[in-house]
This record gives sequence, structure tokens and C-alpha cells, in this order.
Amino acid sequence: MKVQLLPSTIGGDAEHQLLSSYLIDDQICLDAGSIGFHFDLSLQLGVKHLFITHCHSDHLASLPIFLDTHFGEGAEEPVPLVIYAEESTAEAIKEDILNDRHWPDFLRINQEEKLGLLEIQIIQEEEPISVLGYKITPVRVDHIVDTLAFVVEKGGQSFALVTDTCPTDRIWEVCSQLQGLGLVILELSFPDRMQWLATISKHLTTSEFAREREKLKSADDCRFLAVHLKPNQFEEIRAELENQHLPGVEVMRTGREYQI
Ligand SMILES: [Zn+2]
Ligand SMILES: [Zn+2]
Repeated sequence: MKVQLLPSTIGGDAEHQLLSSYLIDDQICLDAGSIGFHFDLSLQLGVKHLFITHCHSDHLASLPIFLDTHFGEGAEEPVPLVIYAEESTAEAIKEDILNDRHWPDFLRINQEEKLGLLEIQIIQEEEPISVLGYKITPVRVDHIVDTLAFVVEKGGQSFALVTDTCPTDRIWEVCSQLQGLGLVILELSFPDRMQWLATISKHLTTSEFAREREKLKSADDCRFLAVHLKPNQFEEIRAELENQHLPGVEVMRTGREYQI
């Protein structure tokens, strides 16, 4: 398996991550922050399975454009795009985005015109989904709206995407039972001095990131990549993380493919 954090900036070569989209083997995407802004339309069209962690804009910003790309594909026998989200997140997508005001209601259009281009599949925490040979398990984490982490398994290898959340426990119990967990992608939004903001917005600081990592059994055998660093504090957070000297821990680079 390979996983990539898609870039989300325009111009320059800053490593800042403004939006969240994690592409797995060019065929499954976790979150729609930036996938719809990808220049390569064939790459976008190759992704027919989209899993959503939660309804915040940095995780959904490009969804309208992504849907537009898929609706404009023009294939004679289209393969539907399937969006996997829990009930409350699916409702937010319908009410806040596909409401004909923010963006056309592609779900209604799809249904009325019998286009077969789009489905929303409701998922439940800890009920795994099998798709394209992958097993994807949603696990509840703790954020200011309903949010799911995802554990992705294939061929004896696995990784976990844990974002957005404040300190939480269940995901570490699930991950500790996994065989072949090679990578955890874990949010780290704020430096320690901004603990107050991390607490009210339910995100992690550097020290909390380190404590979360300790909850995983044999954490030293697993690579950890920090994501979701606030752009204004990017270098500060990275320096703080490096000062922790945690083995196998670094900031995830946008655009780089990580093998699991
Ligand atoms: Zn969020
Ligand atoms: Zn976020």
C-alpha cells in the first residue's frame, strides 16, 4: 500500500497543509479537502471510493468540484462514486453543501435523472467496510463534531488515519490489537503554548501528540507522521516535535508517497 497526503497550496514550495485528502494507491481517498483540486482529472476519476472523517471544511472543501469532475466524466457505463460517511456527516453534506445554494444537489439530480453516478453509503463505527480488497474500519475519535478515524488494512499491512481529535483512547486499543500496523498518521494542530486553543477546538498539541503515541502498544515499532499542523505555527510545531526525539516520528510531507 502507498498513501499520499495531497498538496493543498498554490504557488511556491511551502510544505503547509491547508486541506486534508489522503490518497491510497490512487484508488481510494480519505477526505475531500483537496482531491477535487488535483490537476490530473484522470487521477480524480480513478477514485470511486471516498471516505469522510467529519464535516469540517478543510476535509470537504474540494468535494463540490470533485463531484463536478465525476458528473462531467461522460462515460457510457459510469462507475458510481461512493461517498462513505456516518449519518450525521452525510446529513451535513446534504444540508450544508448539496443544498442547491452552496452547490447543486447532485444527489437529487443523480436520482431524478437515473444517472448512476453517485451514492452515499452510511457507515457505523467499528463496522468494517470491504472495498477493492481493502478492509477499512471507522473508529470513533473525539472532536467538536462527530468524527471517525480510519484503520486501513490490506494484505497483512495496515495503517491508521487519526484526525481530527483531542486525546482519545479507543483508536489506540484497536490499533494495539492489529498485526502489521506500519504507520499512524496522527494530527498535531498546535504548539504547546496554544494548549488553550487545542482544548476548546478539540485538537492535539505537541505534548499531547507524544502522549497519544505512548498509548499504542509497541509504538517504537510503528512510524508516526504528524499532520494538520496549523500553517502559521508550522515551523514552531515541527521544531517542538523534533525536540521530543521520538523514534520514527516526523511531519508528513505533502505530495510524497509513503509505502506501508
Ligand atoms: Zn475538524
Ligand atoms: Zn481539520
